Amino acid sequence: MSDCIFCKIVAGEVPAEEIYRDDDVIAIVDVNPQAPKHLLVLPRKHYATLAEIVESKEHRVAGSLLRAATKLAREVGGQGYRIVVNSGEQGGQTVDHAHVHVLAGRQMHWPPG
Ligand code: 5GP
Ligand code: ZN
Repeated sequence: MSDCIFCKIVAGEVPAEEIYRDDDVIAIVDVNPQAPKHLLVLPRKHYATLAEIVESKEHRVAGSLLRAATKLAREVGGQGYRIVVNSGEQGGQTVDHAHVHVLAGRQMHWPPG
């Protein structure tokens, strides 16, 4: 997707602080962090939502997203962490390239608002 900011980051056309990459996903530092540690894990291929990945039967990609998110969360979130997927407009999704948030480094609250 030529106009997708996360596709541009994956392609190296837009700079980002990349901290992880494998065959399926990359992880970057969120440019507007909502916690002392705020990472984003995204598929290298463009999917609009997590639902699109699951419905396309891309089980390896879905697994890679969760595996990378969990690995990174355990590395940065010694006292605990939160893994979030905002989906759709009402779900708070603002970038239409599927991604998993990893938040850590402060006390999380519930409900999340
Ligand atoms: P969403 O609101 O879709 O769940 O999450 C999108 C996230 O992407 C936001 O937390 C936002 O700060 C982050 N973001 C948007 N544009 C960029 C960018 O160009 N670079 C980085 N590193 N993060 C971005
Ligand atoms: Zn994209």
